[in-house]
Amino acid sequence: MCRPQSIRILGAGVAGLAAAIALAEDGHHIELIDERFEIPSVGTSLGMFASAQSAMARLGVLDDVRNASIAPRRGVIYGQDGQAIATLPAGDALLLARSDLVQILRDAVPESVQQVRRRIEDVRPLRAGVDLLIGADGVHSLVRRSGWPGRQSARTHGMTVLRGTADIAPPEISETWGGGWLFGITPLAGATFADTTATATTSTSTSTSTSTSTTGTNWFACLPEHRAPSVHADLAHLRSVVGGRRPAIDAVLAAARPESTLVHGLHTTPPVHPVRENVVLLGDAALAMAPNLGHGANTALQDAVALATALRNASAGRAGSNSATLSAALRAYARNRALPGHAWRIGSALMLRTAMMDEHAGLRDRAVQAAGSLARRRAEALRR
Ligand SMILES: Cc1cc2nc3c(=O)[nH]c(=O)nc-3n(C[C@H](O)[C@H](O)[C@H](O)COP(=O)(O)OP(=O)(O)OC[C@H]3O[C@@H](n4cnc5c(N)ncnc54)[C@H](O)[C@@H]3O)c2cc1C
Repeated sequence: MCRPQSIRILGAGVAGLAAAIALAEDGHHIELIDERFEIPSVGTSLGMFASAQSAMARLGVLDDVRNASIAPRRGVIYGQDGQAIATLPAGDALLLARSDLVQILRDAVPESVQQVRRRIEDVRPLRAGVDLLIGADGVHSLVRRSGWPGRQSARTHGMTVLRGTADIAPPEISETWGGGWLFGITPLAGATFADTTATATTSTSTSTSTSTSTTGTNWFACLPEHRAPSVHADLAHLRSVVGGRRPAIDAVLAAARPESTLVHGLHTTPPVHPVRENVVLLGDAALAMAPNLGHGANTALQDAVALATALRNASAGRAGSNSATLSAALRAYARNRALPGHAWRIGSALMLRTAMMDEHAGLRDRAVQAAGSLARRRAEALRR
């Protein structure tokens, strides 16, 4: 059993909620602070892969997540001329609405966790009176900006992201890489799917989760930076850039509504060592990556479980002081999480650059097609 530590967590997104659940389970005294404690109003989808599913199993929420998810089988990437350039198997990935994931995690937070609704303007007082401060306050993390050398602010990529849900059956699972823009289409959990490339895991479930799933299509787009005075005008701009290229995109955009659309910039964080004294960063606060490999929330869940595990392991059989246990745990956490996090950060940045390529998009499409057919031929040769 761990020696209980008093821990304050700033941020109740995926990372902060997961950390509160995992750490409270080991008997630590947790205070969780967030300015909103909100369930996202637009239920855009997140892809959850095997390692995040293991983390969710450890948090005791995997069954509820499965019940709110669908399991896509594959997705297709289309190039700038509208031709398919790659088909990607989805493996064990689950797709669920971000709003459902946050709701399921919130439902799983034990009563022992003290939840405080407050906007924090100054991080310094948060370190007082606790053994550990966790910064789980997202890409623009005040904890990171206040406590790390060089006041590490998030960096903009000079792009605008639009994402939303549309009340139509998803025509396909795809990402279209135009010249200098991308547009993605995935199903929402519970959707009546027009294609056969996904199965609903909800259909036979007896879910006890307080799922807020909607049905329909999840979509996302990335464009060179352009902000209009209203979401209505942002959508009009998006239609003018990507419309008329592929019927599936046109169908989704025809059904897209301003009230179910989010528009924001694209920010990532510089690489930082996630630990300083008794402060540790989790999730986007530690490492916000480009969204193109769909791994930010996956990483946040793994960070949270890795931190709780490191603390549990450091406590086991240790007769030292609380602060010695904590230092050992934080060193282990940083060792375990830094490398995979940076690998995803670099991979996501490369994917963003590739997908948003403008000048050499034709060359890119031919290279992706060639790599795909080479991989297929190799797989066939191995099967023979
Ligand atoms: C377009 C797009 C698509 C994506 N798709 C995927 C995907 O398919 N799969 C995937 O794994 N990830 C995906 N991601 C990434 C994923 O959404 C994030 O990595 C993840 O949500 C980060 O969670 P977090 O808890 O670290 O931060 P956040 O969710 O940002 O939570 C931070 C919390 O801190 C609180 N907070 C911040 N500052 C303060 C303050 N000063 N005082 C009080 N409270 C504060 C906020 O209210 C918030 O609740 C995508 C991201 C984008 C932009």
